Amino acid sequence: MNREKEIVKTSIIGILTNILLVGFKAFIGILAMSISIIMDAVNNLTDALSSLITIIGTKLANKKPNKAHPYGYGRIEYLTSTLIAFIILFAGATAIYESIVSLVENKTPSYDNWAIIIVSVAIVVKILLGLFFRYKAKKVSSDALKSSGTDALFDSILSLATLIAIIVSMTAHVYIEGYLGIIIGLFILKSGFEALKESLAQIIGSRLETEKANAIKNLILDNHKEVLGVYDLIVNNYGPDKSIGSAHIEVNDSITAKEIQLLEREIQTEVYINFSIIMTVGIYASNDSTEISKKIKDYLLEILKKYPHIIQMHGFYVDEVKKLVLFDIIFDFDEENQSGVISEINTTLKEKFSEFTFNIIIDTDFSD
Ligand SMILES: [Zn+2]
Repeated sequence: MNREKEIVKTSIIGILTNILLVGFKAFIGILAMSISIIMDAVNNLTDALSSLITIIGTKLANKKPNKAHPYGYGRIEYLTSTLIAFIILFAGATAIYESIVSLVENKTPSYDNWAIIIVSVAIVVKILLGLFFRYKAKKVSSDALKSSGTDALFDSILSLATLIAIIVSMTAHVYIEGYLGIIIGLFILKSGFEALKESLAQIIGSRLETEKANAIKNLILDNHKEVLGVYDLIVNNYGPDKSIGSAHIEVNDSITAKEIQLLEREIQTEVYINFSIIMTVGIYASNDSTEISKKIKDYLLEILKKYPHIIQMHGFYVDEVKKLVLFDIIFDFDEENQSGVISEINTTLKEKFSEFTFNIIIDTDFSD
């Protein structure tokens, strides 16, 4: 199923539902002179707006790549969900503001049974809409739809509070809608901040989820016996369904270019099919079995134990003809003096194996 079409269809259902709710609530709210029902209507209007923004964002994000933007426009969706987060924040702030106003002005609305019926129906509609949004969001992995779904579920709580306030005011003549509105407003603000944090994290760029990193590595390792290890996995996303990445694989140094080429192509295809990642594969040669290689590696591993901020060493290779030793080091993000540590390691190795040159590369801890 086409992702864009799914999102647009879902959003249109959201817009139509919300516009209907706005109409009914505005009508009954003005009749009853109820600030909380009118506020509820305004809130639904912002929801319709969110859905509209989702549609526009999805359309823009699906624009074809071109020379200036070869990665496409997928990241526009992160801007859209940021915008929706701001709308949620606005709705929360409005709810609090209006509630405080209604408390200060001490207004006494006059409700009838129609208010109860319409607000009750709105609650059910909002719950169904929220669940529908969340189901679709999960299906097509859309942050914007997810935010809209969360928003709709909160709205149903908001309407529920309004309903309680109506019933209490009709039966006991106590007006509690102001207090309820403030509490609900705070909850709406909280969900707005969470949505904002999530979409900003996508824009800034965040660490690949451990589960996904492991799944990619395991796919490569399980399918190819000749791959001895997968390292330096990097995945950059250019929208929810488009990623470009790279990884290093370790293979025995006797393997030929012809075999490597085939291996790379197979890995690229598998990773693309399973994860929609366009993957570049780099090679580390391995020859751990030779006498001198073992000796140097064991000594190196012993040295590395002294450095708690080193979390991985890989790509170890000894070229006995050129008297060259290659390996990569990954530090955690707390090591302040990476180059100092590297030169210390180099010196220590050099003292013991003076005939060798050590070529050490510092890798970044991009993923688990
Ligand atoms: Zn590396």
